[in-house]
Amino acid sequence: MIDSALLYVLIAVVLLVVAVGALVFVRTRAGKTEQPTVRTAPPVEKPPAEEPAEAPVDLVEEEEPAAPVAPEIEKPEPAAGRMQRLRARLARSQSSLGRGLLALIARDKLDDETWEEIEDTLIAADVGVEPTQELVEKLRTRMRVEGIDDPEGARHALREELIALVDPSFDRTVASAGSDGEPGVVLLVGVNGTGKTTTVGRIARVLVAEEKSVLLAAADTFRAAAADQLQTWGERVGSQTVRGPEGGDPASVAFDAVKRGSEEDIDTVLVDTAGRLHTKAGLMDELGKVKRVIEKQAPVTEVLLVIDATTGQNGLVQARVFAEVVDVTGVVLTKLDGTAKGGIVIAVQRELGVPVKLVGLGEGADDLAPFVAQDFVDALLD
Ligand code: GDP
Repeated sequence: MIDSALLYVLIAVVLLVVAVGALVFVRTRAGKTEQPTVRTAPPVEKPPAEEPAEAPVDLVEEEEPAAPVAPEIEKPEPAAGRMQRLRARLARSQSSLGRGLLALIARDKLDDETWEEIEDTLIAADVGVEPTQELVEKLRTRMRVEGIDDPEGARHALREELIALVDPSFDRTVASAGSDGEPGVVLLVGVNGTGKTTTVGRIARVLVAEEKSVLLAAADTFRAAAADQLQTWGERVGSQTVRGPEGGDPASVAFDAVKRGSEEDIDTVLVDTAGRLHTKAGLMDELGKVKRVIEKQAPVTEVLLVIDATTGQNGLVQARVFAEVVDVTGVVLTKLDGTAKGGIVIAVQRELGVPVKLVGLGEGADDLAPFVAQDFVDALLD
């Protein structure tokens, strides 16, 4: 009896121990699998930012605030004698023309065929048919009358006739001075890309070298880049540029500049205009308006038509159209260093009846030379 009672007690104890053990096991597992879905991690407090370590004094240089750097003002060279300086460049570009003519004219027998070849050479160099025939006619007569039959004599006659054709009697000074207390106003016109803005910048340099005060007018309001380019040219020689809003009225920019030029006793206002597409009547009319509006303030003293010498006959077409809209008073022939067709000098003067006043002979800032007929012909026959 006692044994069975003990047995029951033992079984009860074992069951109790198993039950307690199972309970403890289940609780422990439940605690382990609990997911931290709602509980967010307590905010981690950042350690206070470390004070930057003080650098050793001798290693750190205190930076001075940069003082605004004034653009360096260049001292351009005067224009006198530039054609001489740039003669080699001109001679190089025109060497085939000069050599061709000299070789033909120095032949023992100057028959019709040779004279025709001379004509062809001149026409190929863009001299134009009429001036070419005139030159050949005069040269033929002269050689016959004067009995010239040696190469040196022929060269001399050719030189003289070419100079006469280029016409040294033209007044080639650029009218940059005004009168009655007004500034001189030089208007530059021409098709885009011919070198207008570059020419304005270069003329400004020439005037500054002559100690004249210059104001630039960016009347090409269609291209902001053109106005920037002009302003840079001005800054290089300490000249101001008057600009307007992009797409604004070019005539009003030109007027403002001339008015300011008058108020500030400026010697010359140089007006850069937009590259009028000479085929678009509206744009060309606008160019006429620019001139008329300026003249409410002061007379325009010079209208320079800029022509790219490398464009040949096309340049002559442009000359004709521009001359209808504004009274062109002089021609600037750019890029003469880049073409063998120097005859365009003669052709364009014939076309417009006005002289070539300046020629561009390179891409440098001072590669614009006052045109001198004798120097031009000498470079040709070098
Ligand atoms: P714009 O559009 O008429 O104002 O023409 P730019 O003044 O911008 O000139 C057009 C390009 O022609 C530029 O790259 C100039 O450097 C170049 N140029 C101007 N004149 C001469 C010159 O006499 N000789 C040469 N080789 N390049 C020139």
